[in-house]
Amino acid sequence: MKRFLLGSALLLAAASSAFAAEIPPASPAARAPAAAGPKLVEPHLHIARSNIAGHARIALTFDACMGEADERILSTLVNERIPATVFVTARWLKRNPKALAVFLQNPDLFELENHGEKHIPAIDKPVLVYGIPSAGSPDAVRQEVEGGAAAMVASGIPAPRWFRGSTAKYDLSAIGQIRAMGYRIAGYSVNGDGGSLLGAAVTEKRIAAARDGDVVISHINQPTHAAGEGVARALVDLKAKGTEFVRLQDVADTGDDRTTE
Ligand SMILES: [Zn+2]
Repeated sequence: MKRFLLGSALLLAAASSAFAAEIPPASPAARAPAAAGPKLVEPHLHIARSNIAGHARIALTFDACMGEADERILSTLVNERIPATVFVTARWLKRNPKALAVFLQNPDLFELENHGEKHIPAIDKPVLVYGIPSAGSPDAVRQEVEGGAAAMVASGIPAPRWFRGSTAKYDLSAIGQIRAMGYRIAGYSVNGDGGSLLGAAVTEKRIAAARDGDVVISHINQPTHAAGEGVARALVDLKAKGTEFVRLQDVADTGDDRTTE
Protein backbone atom coordinates (compact mmCIF):
# COMPACT_ATOMS: atom_id res chain seq x y z
CA MET A 1 0.00 0.00 0.00
CA LYS A 2 2.84 2.32 0.91
CA ARG A 3 4.48 1.56 -2.37
CA PHE A 4 1.22 2.28 -4.16
CA LEU A 5 0.83 5.62 -2.41
CA LEU A 6 4.37 6.64 -3.22
CA GLY A 7 3.84 5.72 -6.86
CA SER A 8 0.65 7.74 -6.94
CA ALA A 9 2.35 10.73 -5.40
CA LEU A 10 5.09 10.62 -8.02
CA LEU A 11 2.57 10.31 -10.79
CA LEU A 12 0.57 13.22 -9.44
CA ALA A 13 3.70 15.33 -9.19
CA ALA A 14 4.60 14.52 -12.77
CA ALA A 15 1.08 15.11 -14.00
CA SER A 16 0.51 18.36 -12.14
CA SER A 17 1.92 20.06 -15.19
CA ALA A 18 0.01 19.82 -18.44
CA PHE A 19 3.28 19.76 -20.26
CA ALA A 20 5.77 17.58 -18.46
CA ALA A 21 5.86 15.01 -21.25
CA GLU A 22 7.20 17.52 -23.71
CA ILE A 23 10.56 17.66 -22.07
CA PRO A 24 13.33 15.31 -21.06
CA PRO A 25 13.84 14.63 -17.36
CA ALA A 26 15.65 17.55 -15.82
CA SER A 27 18.60 17.39 -13.51
CA PRO A 28 17.92 18.27 -9.85
CA ALA A 29 19.70 21.58 -10.38
CA ALA A 30 17.48 22.43 -13.32
CA ARG A 31 14.38 21.71 -11.24
CA ALA A 32 15.37 24.05 -8.45
CA PRO A 33 13.38 27.28 -8.54
CA ALA A 34 15.29 30.27 -9.81
CA ALA A 35 16.25 32.63 -7.02
CA ALA A 36 14.71 35.71 -8.64
CA GLY A 37 13.19 34.56 -11.89
CA PRO A 38 10.45 36.42 -13.73
CA LYS A 39 6.89 36.03 -12.48
CA LEU A 40 5.25 33.42 -14.68
CA VAL A 41 1.54 32.90 -15.31
CA GLU A 42 -0.34 29.97 -16.79
CA PRO A 43 -3.50 31.65 -18.06
CA HIS A 44 -7.00 30.22 -18.03
CA LEU A 45 -9.34 30.37 -21.01
CA HIS A 46 -13.09 29.79 -21.13
CA ILE A 47 -15.56 30.03 -23.97
CA ALA A 48 -19.12 31.37 -23.97
CA ARG A 49 -21.42 28.73 -22.50
CA SER A 50 -24.35 27.26 -24.42
CA ASN A 51 -26.50 27.38 -21.26
CA ILE A 52 -28.54 24.55 -22.72
CA ALA A 53 -28.99 21.60 -20.38
CA GLY A 54 -27.64 18.41 -21.92
CA HIS A 55 -25.67 20.30 -24.58
CA ALA A 56 -22.54 21.58 -22.90
CA ARG A 57 -20.36 23.62 -25.26
CA ILE A 58 -16.72 22.54 -25.10
CA ALA A 59 -13.63 23.57 -27.05
CA LEU A 60 -11.15 20.74 -27.50
CA THR A 61 -7.60 21.96 -28.04
CA PHE A 62 -4.66 19.74 -28.87
CA ASP A 63 -0.98 20.54 -28.84
CA ALA A 64 1.29 19.05 -31.49
CA CYS A 65 4.59 19.93 -29.88
CA MET A 66 7.09 17.67 -31.63
CA GLY A 67 7.29 13.97 -32.45
CA GLU A 68 4.52 12.10 -34.24
CA ALA A 69 0.76 12.23 -34.79
CA ASP A 70 -1.55 10.20 -32.53
CA GLU A 71 -3.76 8.33 -35.00
CA ARG A 72 -6.06 7.13 -32.21
CA ILE A 73 -7.14 10.70 -31.57
CA LEU A 74 -6.95 11.96 -35.14
CA SER A 75 -9.06 9.15 -36.59
CA THR A 76 -11.67 9.52 -33.85
CA LEU A 77 -12.01 13.23 -34.54
CA VAL A 78 -12.41 12.57 -38.26
CA ASN A 79 -14.70 9.54 -38.00
CA GLU A 80 -16.93 11.12 -35.36
CA ARG A 81 -16.83 14.50 -37.14
CA ILE A 82 -15.72 16.30 -33.97
CA PRO A 83 -14.27 19.79 -34.52
CA ALA A 84 -11.10 20.80 -32.65
CA THR A 85 -8.37 23.42 -32.51
CA VAL A 86 -4.84 22.06 -32.99
CA PHE A 87 -1.74 24.01 -32.01
CA VAL A 88 1.18 23.01 -34.23
CA THR A 89 4.87 23.84 -34.15
CA ALA A 90 7.07 24.29 -37.21
CA ARG A 91 9.09 21.25 -36.19
CA TRP A 92 6.00 19.04 -35.84
CA LEU A 93 4.67 20.15 -39.24
CA LYS A 94 7.93 19.19 -40.88
CA ARG A 95 7.72 15.62 -39.57
CA ASN A 96 4.03 14.96 -40.08
CA PRO A 97 2.93 15.75 -43.65
CA LYS A 98 0.31 12.98 -43.63
CA ALA A 99 -1.45 14.31 -40.55
CA LEU A 100 -1.26 17.83 -41.97
CA ALA A 101 -2.96 16.58 -45.12
CA VAL A 102 -5.81 15.16 -43.02
CA PHE A 103 -6.20 18.50 -41.25
CA LEU A 104 -6.26 20.41 -44.51
CA GLN A 105 -8.72 17.97 -46.10
CA ASN A 106 -11.17 18.62 -43.24
CA PRO A 107 -11.37 22.40 -42.85
CA ASP A 108 -14.83 22.06 -41.32
CA LEU A 109 -13.25 20.12 -38.43
CA PHE A 110 -9.81 21.53 -37.82
CA GLU A 111 -8.71 25.00 -36.88
CA LEU A 112 -4.91 25.11 -36.88
CA GLU A 113 -3.14 27.59 -34.65
CA ASN A 114 0.39 28.56 -33.68
CA HIS A 115 2.39 26.59 -31.09
CA GLY A 116 5.70 28.23 -32.04
CA GLU A 117 8.68 27.48 -34.22
CA LYS A 118 10.94 25.37 -32.00
CA HIS A 119 8.73 24.75 -28.97
CA ILE A 120 10.56 27.19 -26.73
CA PRO A 121 8.68 28.81 -23.81
CA ALA A 122 7.53 32.31 -24.84
CA ILE A 123 9.12 34.11 -21.90
CA ASP A 124 11.30 37.14 -22.61
CA LYS A 125 13.70 36.63 -19.72
CA PRO A 126 16.09 33.71 -19.25
CA VAL A 127 14.54 31.03 -17.06
CA LEU A 128 14.17 27.27 -17.03
CA VAL A 129 10.61 25.91 -17.25
CA TYR A 130 10.44 22.20 -16.39
CA GLY A 131 14.13 22.22 -17.22
CA ILE A 132 13.91 23.80 -20.68
CA PRO A 133 15.37 27.23 -21.37
CA SER A 134 12.93 29.99 -22.22
CA ALA A 135 13.24 32.18 -25.32
CA GLY A 136 14.98 34.63 -23.00
CA SER A 137 14.53 37.93 -24.85
CA PRO A 138 11.79 39.85 -26.69
CA ASP A 139 13.57 39.18 -29.99
CA ALA A 140 13.61 35.43 -29.32
CA VAL A 141 9.92 35.47 -28.33
CA ARG A 142 9.16 37.24 -31.61
CA GLN A 143 11.16 34.66 -33.55
CA GLU A 144 9.35 31.78 -31.84
CA VAL A 145 5.95 33.26 -32.70
CA GLU A 146 6.75 34.52 -36.21
CA GLY A 147 8.73 31.39 -37.12
CA GLY A 148 5.78 29.21 -36.15
CA ALA A 149 3.36 31.30 -38.21
CA ALA A 150 5.68 31.41 -41.23
CA ALA A 151 5.99 27.62 -41.29
CA MET A 152 2.22 27.25 -41.09
CA VAL A 153 1.55 29.62 -43.98
CA ALA A 154 4.30 27.94 -46.02
CA SER A 155 2.48 24.62 -45.41
CA GLY A 156 -0.77 25.96 -46.83
CA ILE A 157 -2.45 26.73 -43.49
CA PRO A 158 -4.35 30.02 -43.12
CA ALA A 159 -2.50 32.65 -41.06
CA PRO A 160 -2.98 31.80 -37.36
CA ARG A 161 -4.86 34.09 -34.98
CA TRP A 162 -4.12 32.25 -31.72
CA PHE A 163 -0.81 31.44 -30.07
CA ARG A 164 -0.06 28.97 -27.30
CA GLY A 165 3.56 28.81 -26.19
CA SER A 166 5.46 25.73 -25.14
CA THR A 167 4.60 24.87 -21.50
CA ALA A 168 1.68 27.39 -21.66
CA LYS A 169 3.61 29.61 -19.25
CA TYR A 170 4.49 33.24 -19.98
CA ASP A 171 5.64 36.37 -18.28
CA LEU A 172 3.31 39.34 -18.51
CA SER A 173 5.57 41.37 -20.78
CA ALA A 174 5.73 38.52 -23.31
CA ILE A 175 1.94 38.29 -23.18
CA GLY A 176 1.78 41.99 -24.01
CA GLN A 177 4.25 41.57 -26.84
CA ILE A 178 2.40 38.62 -28.40
CA ARG A 179 -0.94 40.41 -28.06
CA ALA A 180 0.62 43.43 -29.82
CA MET A 181 1.57 41.09 -32.67
CA GLY A 182 -2.15 40.51 -33.17
CA TYR A 183 -2.60 37.16 -31.43
CA ARG A 184 -4.99 35.96 -28.80
CA ILE A 185 -3.19 33.70 -26.34
CA ALA A 186 -4.75 30.34 -25.64
CA GLY A 187 -4.90 29.25 -22.03
CA TYR A 188 -7.18 26.40 -21.02
CA SER A 189 -9.55 25.40 -18.20
CA VAL A 190 -9.25 21.59 -18.14
CA ASN A 191 -5.90 19.82 -18.16
CA GLY A 192 -7.04 16.69 -19.96
CA ASP A 193 -3.99 14.44 -20.12
CA GLY A 194 -1.41 15.82 -17.66
CA GLY A 195 1.14 16.46 -20.38
CA SER A 196 0.16 13.07 -21.90
CA LEU A 197 1.59 11.32 -18.81
CA LEU A 198 -1.67 10.20 -17.26
CA GLY A 199 -3.17 6.76 -17.66
CA ALA A 200 -5.98 6.10 -20.12
CA ALA A 201 -8.76 5.79 -17.53
CA VAL A 202 -7.84 8.98 -15.64
CA THR A 203 -7.51 10.92 -18.88
CA GLU A 204 -10.88 9.71 -20.11
CA LYS A 205 -12.50 10.69 -16.82
CA ARG A 206 -10.95 14.16 -16.74
CA ILE A 207 -11.95 15.06 -20.29
CA ALA A 208 -15.38 13.48 -20.14
CA ALA A 209 -16.05 15.59 -17.02
CA ALA A 210 -15.54 18.86 -18.92
CA ARG A 211 -18.41 21.31 -18.43
CA ASP A 212 -20.23 23.96 -20.38
CA GLY A 213 -17.70 26.66 -21.37
CA ASP A 214 -14.57 24.62 -20.78
CA VAL A 215 -11.44 24.66 -22.94
CA VAL A 216 -9.70 21.27 -22.72
CA ILE A 217 -5.99 20.89 -23.43
CA SER A 218 -4.39 17.59 -24.35
CA HIS A 219 -1.73 16.27 -26.70
CA ILE A 220 -1.98 14.75 -30.16
CA ASN A 221 1.72 14.02 -30.57
CA GLN A 222 2.34 11.07 -28.24
CA PRO A 223 1.01 7.94 -30.01
CA THR A 224 2.86 5.56 -27.67
CA HIS A 225 1.40 7.00 -24.44
CA ALA A 226 -1.65 5.47 -22.77
CA ALA A 227 -3.22 8.90 -22.30
CA GLY A 228 -4.11 9.13 -25.99
CA GLU A 229 -6.38 6.13 -25.74
CA GLY A 230 -8.22 7.84 -22.90
CA VAL A 231 -8.51 11.01 -24.99
CA ALA A 232 -10.04 9.08 -27.87
CA ARG A 233 -12.53 7.34 -25.59
CA ALA A 234 -13.51 10.63 -23.93
CA LEU A 235 -14.34 12.14 -27.32
CA VAL A 236 -16.90 9.41 -27.89
CA ASP A 237 -18.21 9.80 -24.32
CA LEU A 238 -18.71 13.54 -24.77
CA LYS A 239 -20.41 13.14 -28.12
CA ALA A 240 -22.83 10.60 -26.62
CA LYS A 241 -23.68 13.16 -23.92
CA GLY A 242 -24.83 15.67 -26.54
CA THR A 243 -21.80 17.96 -26.32
CA GLU A 244 -21.59 20.89 -28.69
CA PHE A 245 -17.97 20.90 -29.87
CA VAL A 246 -16.62 24.25 -31.03
CA ARG A 247 -13.29 25.62 -32.19
CA LEU A 248 -11.76 28.76 -30.74
CA GLN A 249 -12.55 30.69 -33.91
CA ASP A 250 -16.25 29.84 -33.60
CA VAL A 251 -17.12 31.39 -30.23
CA ALA A 252 -16.57 34.27 -27.83
CA ASP A 253 -13.97 33.66 -25.14
CA THR A 254 -12.60 35.01 -21.89
CA GLY A 255 -8.95 34.62 -20.96
CA ASP A 256 -7.25 35.92 -17.83
CA ASP A 257 -3.83 37.62 -17.51
CA ARG A 258 -4.77 39.92 -20.43
CA THR A 259 -4.50 37.07 -22.91
CA THR A 260 -7.62 37.91 -24.94
CA GLU A 261 -9.04 41.26 -23.85
ZN1 LIG B 1 3.70 21.83 -26.57
